[in-house]
Amino acid sequence: MPPQLTPLVQTIQGIRLANTASNKPEPTWNITISPQGTISSITPNTTSSPPLSTPLALPSLVHPHIHLDKAYIHNTPSYSHLLPRTGSFNEALTSTTQAKASFTPADLLKRGEWLLAESVSSGVTAMRAFVEVDATVQHACLNAGLTLKEKWKEACEIQLVVFAQDPIFSTESGQENRRLVGDALREYGPDRLSVLGTTPYVESSVEAARRNIEWAVDMALETDRHLDFHLDYNLSPPDEDPEPLIWYVLRMLREKCWTTHSTTKRVMLGHCTRLSLFREEDWSRLTQEIQDYDIPASFVGLPTSDLYMASIPTPTQGGGGRLGVKSNPRGTLPIPDMIRKYGLDAVMGVNNVGNAFTPWGSIDPLSIACLGVGIYQAGTLDDAELLYECISTRARTAIGLSSSLSASASDPGVRPNCGESADLLLLYDIDDTGCLEDGGASRPRKSMAEVVWDPPARMSRAVVSRGRVKMPALSACSNDAFRFVAT
Ligand SMILES: [Zn+2]
Repeated sequence: MPPQLTPLVQTIQGIRLANTASNKPEPTWNITISPQGTISSITPNTTSSPPLSTPLALPSLVHPHIHLDKAYIHNTPSYSHLLPRTGSFNEALTSTTQAKASFTPADLLKRGEWLLAESVSSGVTAMRAFVEVDATVQHACLNAGLTLKEKWKEACEIQLVVFAQDPIFSTESGQENRRLVGDALREYGPDRLSVLGTTPYVESSVEAARRNIEWAVDMALETDRHLDFHLDYNLSPPDEDPEPLIWYVLRMLREKCWTTHSTTKRVMLGHCTRLSLFREEDWSRLTQEIQDYDIPASFVGLPTSDLYMASIPTPTQGGGGRLGVKSNPRGTLPIPDMIRKYGLDAVMGVNNVGNAFTPWGSIDPLSIACLGVGIYQAGTLDDAELLYECISTRARTAIGLSSSLSASASDPGVRPNCGESADLLLLYDIDDTGCLEDGGASRPRKSMAEVVWDPPARMSRAVVSRGRVKMPALSACSNDAFRFVAT
């Protein structure tokens, strides 16, 4: 069941805003919300409030890339025979295909609601959600996705991707898979089914992968969809591997005139672990091609999946650059460098939870920002802000959902802005240790960076979705902070 939300809130009183100079005493603020659910003003709070009831208000969280239909397979007893035995990528593909053959509408809805409930409770109010369409599942995952999109629309904006995880130009099912994806795009409008996604690397040859890319670009343009590729998911040494497919994607977008001027639709490139082996000249070429042709492209790093699956092929595997061979080092897109050093648009996402592609990790985007501190050796206050943007404001813009009027696309920041949708994550200092006697031993998290370094429990989070509040399960935050419009 979707959560109960309050009526539209008129003001949120006495909140703190992110401040990178976190040692100074901070003023508190009041946010007023318009009847349309947008932020109409942010003004200093002149009434004093007790320090422990003063939440930190941040822009809400966003999943720029999440698989709705194959979440929590490992948590469902009927799939227990499909738990990983080797952990290889091929095993994940095979066992997930077997699980998909048993998907039922009730099972899809139940696992999807687990994902949505934990996401919204974590602070997610928008997501790009993949649902697979192929000969195995036909339109079952898509139908469940459409049901959940409608049912959960007040708590979370779900942007659905019709997704070809399987080949569409090779294997005996390729043609059927392609037809089923095309049927879905024709049957539903861009408002219900906003994105086309494919996986060129699962095709059986480079030639088929290129046909996959060209077909997807043509189809997305023809049907007015955003485009989202799972791409270059390998760590093959440059001298052993054919050219990364990113160059062919950019060539197709250029030849088909997909620019920021020709369309408002965007292109997302996910995984792309092979790019972590790029040399300086490769990065320069990538930046130049995207900028010279005004291609609206973003990259999404999916580190929990990448660290688990993307490793260097070992000689005993016969080379070939496939995934899932247990060796070090690992690889994932260098997101902070891509943004700061190369001026590219890049974000971070959860990708998978509870399945053979990613058996570990939680659905909480803050866990991904936290992981980024370690992966990227990104421990400064500025780093924490950038990592938060990558799971919040930047992620929203990258999937084409930003309603921002005032935030700069190049530096969206971690403060709410007037004119934006009132989608907020409020973080309270809630004691979850039970050790509060004699003055208390609960450690408060005062700064935005502390939230990224050590994400607080969900019970400390209140979520505002377009001006309506979802309280934590154990409602420990102050109802007095909100003033409601009479309805
Ligand atoms: Zn994915």
